[in-house]
Amino acid sequence: MERIRNEKPTLWIVIPCYNEEAVLPITAPQFKAELQLLKDTNRISEKSRILFVNDGSKDATWSLIDSFSKEDECFIGISQSRNRGHQNAVLAGLMEALGQCDITISIDCDGQDDIHAMEDMVDAYLQGAEVVYGVRSSRETDTWFKRNSAQSFYKLMNHLGAEVVYNHADYRLVSNTVLEHFKDYEEVNLFLRGMFPLIGFHSTSVYYSRKERMAGESHYPLKKMIALAINGITDLSVEPIHLIAKVGAWVSVFGFAGIIWAIVRHLTNNTVQGWASLTCIVLFLGGLQLLSIGVIGEYVGKTYMETKRRPRYIISKRTYNKDR
Ligand code: UDP
Ligand code: MG
Repeated sequence: MERIRNEKPTLWIVIPCYNEEAVLPITAPQFKAELQLLKDTNRISEKSRILFVNDGSKDATWSLIDSFSKEDECFIGISQSRNRGHQNAVLAGLMEALGQCDITISIDCDGQDDIHAMEDMVDAYLQGAEVVYGVRSSRETDTWFKRNSAQSFYKLMNHLGAEVVYNHADYRLVSNTVLEHFKDYEEVNLFLRGMFPLIGFHSTSVYYSRKERMAGESHYPLKKMIALAINGITDLSVEPIHLIAKVGAWVSVFGFAGIIWAIVRHLTNNTVQGWASLTCIVLFLGGLQLLSIGVIGEYVGKTYMETKRRPRYIISKRTYNKDR
């Protein structure tokens, strides 16, 4: 490996946790072991930390995080004042880390993403990358439905002009340099994996295979997945509005032709009792109009939310003193 950065960077591993009392006791020691390995192999500095972000859990997650932090100083934690969702939890963690470390790696707490990919990620940073995307090389352990719906999602996103890294979720290394610019992206509707490619800087990917959750249950049912997909598309692209305009234009052309046709039939005394065709046309146009208004409404609604400029996360507790 050709190392172009010779200083050992300080790493903060950012881990969002929501009702994860079942899995944290299993994965926390694994994160700690990985951090130790990274230190022992001279990749990162002794000051590196594991930052848990409690996303308003209703179970014992926070008391677990608190007890980890008392056992070992490599563990620290912050708590959101309430549940805000995965994206906002990651954001809170990254903003907490900003300025306190050289690199962050965000990863889920359930052990699904291969912890050992961190070694390659840090190596890529040491070789000059500023952003390193963790990309799933296989999805064998996902259900057929999850695998296919996720892949169609990436394809659709790219098709609509949003730049997302194929099969990359939120397992990524980001340098403090990039975070400095990321903080200026102040949107409330977050779709992190689509935002980092926009910031630029030298990026690369490392590949790992996705495993099964070690314990507990997924918090991303189909409903939330669809919401995330719609959010991702409307965050990164105005293509749906263009599409509506195009469909609207074609429908108008055909509509105009239809009117001429109807007038000609009328003038030639050839009118039929066309109830069925009329009903079809009315229904088709009604549906199309509602759908179009809905899509535009999505954007209007988002604009509304953005203009409020409400805080995107509120930290209510810390296991450590940030100002020290
Ligand atoms: N998570 C969170 N807030 C939420 C939902 C999930 O912080 O409202 C965290 C969760 O603890 C986990 C990560 O986000 O670390 C991914 O969630 P999950 O494993 O349930 O999703 P999946 O991997 O099934 O897509
Ligand atoms: Mg998971």
